[in-house]
Amino acid sequence: MTGITHAAAGSVLGAAIAVWGGQEMIGAVVGAAAALLPDVDHPGSYAGRGFRPLAVWLERKYGHRDSPTHTLLFCITVGLVFGVLAAVAFGSALLVLSAIAGAVSHLLLDGLTRSSIRPLRLFLPRLPRKWEPVKAKLEKASWTRKKWSGPISTGKDLREFVLAVLCFSLTLIIFGIKS
Ligand SMILES: [Zn+2]
Repeated sequence: MTGITHAAAGSVLGAAIAVWGGQEMIGAVVGAAAALLPDVDHPGSYAGRGFRPLAVWLERKYGHRDSPTHTLLFCITVGLVFGVLAAVAFGSALLVLSAIAGAVSHLLLDGLTRSSIRPLRLFLPRLPRKWEPVKAKLEKASWTRKKWSGPISTGKDLREFVLAVLCFSLTLIIFGIKS
């Protein structure tokens, strides 16, 4: 999915959660920003342009969408860290959930595309020799290699456009209800 669609989905989720703490606008921004972070493995993405050396390295080593940033573990972790920072800065614990929801929504949307992702893959560090067989088994297990894919071609499908417009509209409706 394109960055705009990810931001739209992240913003509506972030706003819908943070509205309960009266911080819907900040929640929308936090959710949208978190939703853009997994694409840091692509130098042309919004996040990749912000962290270019990291983006170039990730793309070379793993390839876009095949890197650790497109895994559930990364999205929950980065959402948690980013959300805690936002919660401390703006005084609403709900922003933690806004950020996690935004980051995880990235995987759900990319999982609807033809390019597919494998979000349950494990990127384990080098382990002591006696643990290596366990590591190999986990990495080869079918559930960790399971692909999420769908019918949408990123940026070329009317359904993606409709989804983005719908999400941005819902975000504005949340803002409108509160004001
Ligand atoms: Zn992505």
